[in-house]
Amino acid sequence: MKDTLRHAGKRKQLVDVLIQKGITNKAVLSAIGKIPRHLFMDSGFEDHAYQDKAFPIAADQTISQPYTVAFQTELLEIKKGSTVLEIGTGSGYQTAVLCELGVKVYSIERQQELFKKTKLFLSKLGYRPKYLSFGDGYKGLIEHAPYDGIIVTAGAPYVPKPLLSQLKVNGRLVIPVGEDVQIMTLFIRKSETEFEKREFGEFRFVPLLEDKN
Ligand code: SAH
Repeated sequence: MKDTLRHAGKRKQLVDVLIQKGITNKAVLSAIGKIPRHLFMDSGFEDHAYQDKAFPIAADQTISQPYTVAFQTELLEIKKGSTVLEIGTGSGYQTAVLCELGVKVYSIERQQELFKKTKLFLSKLGYRPKYLSFGDGYKGLIEHAPYDGIIVTAGAPYVPKPLLSQLKVNGRLVIPVGEDVQIMTLFIRKSETEFEKREFGEFRFVPLLEDKN
């Protein structure tokens, strides 16, 4: 599959939809306007790629809805050159958005099949995350901690302690918390021991599962 002018036109429309839904961060909108989302999905579903919808990918997982990706990324308040840990590499779409923002990206995936496929695919597209890890996101990634931002792209039944402790002071954790429905939650580390918590409404994600597979 290729990226054509027709795809670019559809991306522009998707960006307009996200603006209507309240996304304002220019860098985030520009990243979504650039990334060929249709290439992150199986070829038969090309027509769905630029609708603002989540979609099934390999290993019973989903590529997140563009609005959700934009909303979570906006909450991170990223600065160029900062370090971000993503939990749930999945299709690699969110990883690509972070790469476009000039972030040093670390990402963890627990499904071996997706981990291998996405690693190859991102490098084919020319995206260079700092490190892709096959492991359990509940543990974070201590080797490269602390991070300016941590973004969890699966629904967490509770907030894993290692993720809070792997944030820098002033770092931000964006995590959907809940079982069937999740509340998008932002934690800002105020000091070694203090965190500010803010909540941003309901979202639906595939579950954050323990251990690797
Ligand atoms: N960021 C992805 C979203 C994929 S859906 C994208 O843009 O496409 C969530 C992903 O989290 C799935 O790929 C799932 O396998 C993964 N996941 C679930 N539990 C996990 C865990 N404990 N550690 C790491 N990844 C996990």
